[in-house]
Amino acid sequence: MTLVAGVVAVQGNVAEHAAAIRRAGADRERELEVREVRDPGIVPDCDLLAMPGGESTTISRLLHEEGIAPEIREHVRAGKPLLATCAGLIVAASDARDDRVETLGLVDVTVERNAFGRQRDSFEAPLEIDGLDDPFPAVFIRAPVIDSVGEAAVLASVDGRPVAVRDGPVVATSFHPELTADSRLHELAFFGAERAESEHALLE
Ligand code: GLN
Repeated sequence: MTLVAGVVAVQGNVAEHAAAIRRAGADRERELEVREVRDPGIVPDCDLLAMPGGESTTISRLLHEEGIAPEIREHVRAGKPLLATCAGLIVAASDARDDRVETLGLVDVTVERNAFGRQRDSFEAPLEIDGLDDPFPAVFIRAPVIDSVGEAAVLASVDGRPVAVRDGPVVATSFHPELTADSRLHELAFFGAERAESEHALLE
């Protein structure tokens, strides 16, 4: 069965996510095709979904205007994997403490935008991530900080602050896993659960 992978293509590193998804699929010997999501009607056909970074105000506004937001909520409600990165994490969060961002409430965390501070505007750090054997090269660009975690599980932290979480079928990171050649985070988000829980929606 060919899996259909959607990349929300409102803004951000769409081609990089598509490439990382293809590599992750190849590593797990899964056939998949990648579709860009700009219009409603595509997400319902997707088995897995990535929501890239960019500007969270713009992304959330367009997702709601285009009618894609309820489809993404339904995707997660059905238990299908979503990887949300950087601005994608902000949009997926329960609360971004910013009225300009209409969050989707898919990850039970509160985030603060651009909160790593001026000196650490952009940086790269080797990160220990729960579920990966070796450190992951994490690239942070005007990254949000997760400042409170509800039901979500913390997968990684920097200076004691969570930067990667899992909430059910959603993995969300404040860094950009698509900007390195390392596709293990995409694998973890999309296929990790498949190994842990043998009966997953992806196997249907
Ligand atoms: N600073 C952006 C925001 O708050 C996120 C940055 C990113 O996605 N690289 O929306």
